Amino acid sequence: MNSEETNNNLSQLGEFGLIDRIRNQVSDSDSVAVGIGDDCAATIIPAGELLLTSKDLLIEDVHFRRDWTDMYHLGRKSAAVNLSDIAAMGGKATHLFLGVGLPKTLTATEIDQFTSGFIDEANAAGATLCGGDTCRSNGSLLISVTVHGSISPEHLLCRDGAKQGDLIYVSGTIGDSALALAQLQRGETPAAYLGQRHHSPTPRLELGQAIAKNNLATAMIDVSDGIFSDLGHILDQSQLGAQLIQNQFPLSDAARQHLKNNPQDAETALRGGEDYELLFCAPALNNDKINQLATELGVPLTQIGSCVPASQGLTLVDAAGQQRPIQSTGFNHFR
Ligand SMILES: [Mg+2]
Repeated sequence: MNSEETNNNLSQLGEFGLIDRIRNQVSDSDSVAVGIGDDCAATIIPAGELLLTSKDLLIEDVHFRRDWTDMYHLGRKSAAVNLSDIAAMGGKATHLFLGVGLPKTLTATEIDQFTSGFIDEANAAGATLCGGDTCRSNGSLLISVTVHGSISPEHLLCRDGAKQGDLIYVSGTIGDSALALAQLQRGETPAAYLGQRHHSPTPRLELGQAIAKNNLATAMIDVSDGIFSDLGHILDQSQLGAQLIQNQFPLSDAARQHLKNNPQDAETALRGGEDYELLFCAPALNNDKINQLATELGVPLTQIGSCVPASQGLTLVDAAGQQRPIQSTGFNHFR
């Protein structure tokens, strides 16, 4: 089938045909009284829990490039980055809503690949796609995702609860995604592992819930813009400073190998971005329990620094042992 025929398929299918096709891929859920196909979805969250809501906008050539990823993984990532925000509050993901502005050049097959990636990621998180909107875009591909989650009020983890003396931890490894992006921007092909971390991040939902339920942390955030920038949000809202130790930053074997060959990317790895790991602060007396949780879940939880008075700001003890001040700026869309 040539691309013109496929495009015709999409125009023949129409908006309602497309919605039907998406609905047929979604499995039933006990928490959905009314799903795709009515004016509103009607959903249920457990009695006594808070409703968590987050929204993300992904715009072609701003957040992603279609020549760097395939539509299936773009679908997965569109859900994953939103689900990660639920993980960051310690919540359970429940429902997703998807809005898309589809450029004329997109084929029905590509849209199917996108929605199946989105639904696979939702299923992996135990969340259900319950509605959304589709329309034509005269320009680029636009993706707007809203996620709902739930959490009991006593377990909710915000950015403003960190205390002086708390230790700072990060899950998994950092910098993989940023290194892959730097290579893509240079026209290079990233190592498979780095590319996978960039195109198909995993939201840390199970970990976030375990940290929250066991009251292990005082503040938590997911690493979307980069360690310094995201920690900066916790420090601002908790009115603290922090000292980080570069040699303790957890790097993957693939990132270490990359940095051996590309030492100029060291700062990129450090600043990171789009890792979708969890960054949290916790009292030192919880350290044993945190190490135990890491073993139980098979997810590294690494202490990378500690919270200090706001007057000391954010500093990094670099690889040479020199302490230097850090600007906590990550990716600024309006710069
Ligand atoms: Mg976030």
